[in-house]
Amino acid sequence: MRKWNFSPGPATIPEDVLLEVQSELLEFNNAGISIMEMSHRTELYSSIAFEAKKDFIEILNIPDNYEVLFLQGGATHQFSMIPMNFSHLQGKPAYITTGTWTKRAFEEGSKITEIDQIFSSENENFIYAPHFKDLKIPEDASYVHYCPNETIHGVAFDHIPTINNPLVADMSSSILSEPIDVNKFSLIYASAQKNIGPSGLTVVIIKKSFMKQGNKALTNLLRYSEHSKQNSMLNTPPTFSWYVAGKVFKWVKKLGGLSYFKELNTLKASKLYQVIDNSDFYINPVHINNRSIVNIPFVLKDKKLEPLFLKESAENGLLNLKGHFTVGGMRASIYNAMPLDGVEDLIKFMDHFESKYG
Ligand code: PMP
Repeated sequence: MRKWNFSPGPATIPEDVLLEVQSELLEFNNAGISIMEMSHRTELYSSIAFEAKKDFIEILNIPDNYEVLFLQGGATHQFSMIPMNFSHLQGKPAYITTGTWTKRAFEEGSKITEIDQIFSSENENFIYAPHFKDLKIPEDASYVHYCPNETIHGVAFDHIPTINNPLVADMSSSILSEPIDVNKFSLIYASAQKNIGPSGLTVVIIKKSFMKQGNKALTNLLRYSEHSKQNSMLNTPPTFSWYVAGKVFKWVKKLGGLSYFKELNTLKASKLYQVIDNSDFYINPVHINNRSIVNIPFVLKDKKLEPLFLKESAENGLLNLKGHFTVGGMRASIYNAMPLDGVEDLIKFMDHFESKYG
């Protein structure tokens, strides 16, 4: 029996996709073997890989002057790959810290080069994101790094900025949850395990002119341009994750693309925030304008009840609502594959729990 999975990642995968994968698992497309046992160099696998890339480009409306790469190492590997490639350009990179992941990106990047942290909300417990117009971005910054949606703190920027420096974004938890204007970015990266598919895959969207400027002294596996030359098959790619991602892209297209998901995600989130805001039993501390539509953290006014909330919610088929171990509390991650029904069941449970213990 499948239950509602509110995990932040690896997260829910659409049931239709899982069923399709199941039906193809033993033997793929009359090949006599499973997709997991197939060389990435075969014509059959290449066509799957190519189609996934094509669909991803279509969904996000990615212009021709961008390359899309299917890499490994997670978003965490990008924390080093990006400064390795681009910190030699002009001045120091500028980083904006609005939660755990951008803090980690800054710390990891600082081991590679000197970084200018131009903003941090750590002293205010990461409960908001600034507006870019209020930030002082050094004119010569080689690039500006930020995270539109901080997964742990549930903090999102309410705008996509237009800046003069190359803009780099960690979209691990926000990619494919709403339409974006790719033209505003020089590099976008995202781990797959939220809205794209199984873990093991990292998608990078990179402006070709920016990619060309990458540090040539690096070994091939660290260079975007080398991955690009080899169609993301410089070495053996995560073939199974890539194949499942392709099925998720087809599913996204079939249901109506990113405007459909933006509407659905906004509706799911607003219903959940309404429950939180209408009670003094549940609390979400994030500034209203910066509330994430996909990761919704909350605490109970009476902290002692939290273990009971987690126990009873799990017993009611609502899994993985525990907040990140660094912040505690609860968090509901409601990416594309979480249907409205799942959120409504969570809301029913929250109402019930409040009336029982509130
Ligand atoms: N950035 C963000 C915004 C994330 O949510 C995560 C994972 N939860 C990471 C980076 C790290 O991703 P990975 O574990 O794939 O390296």
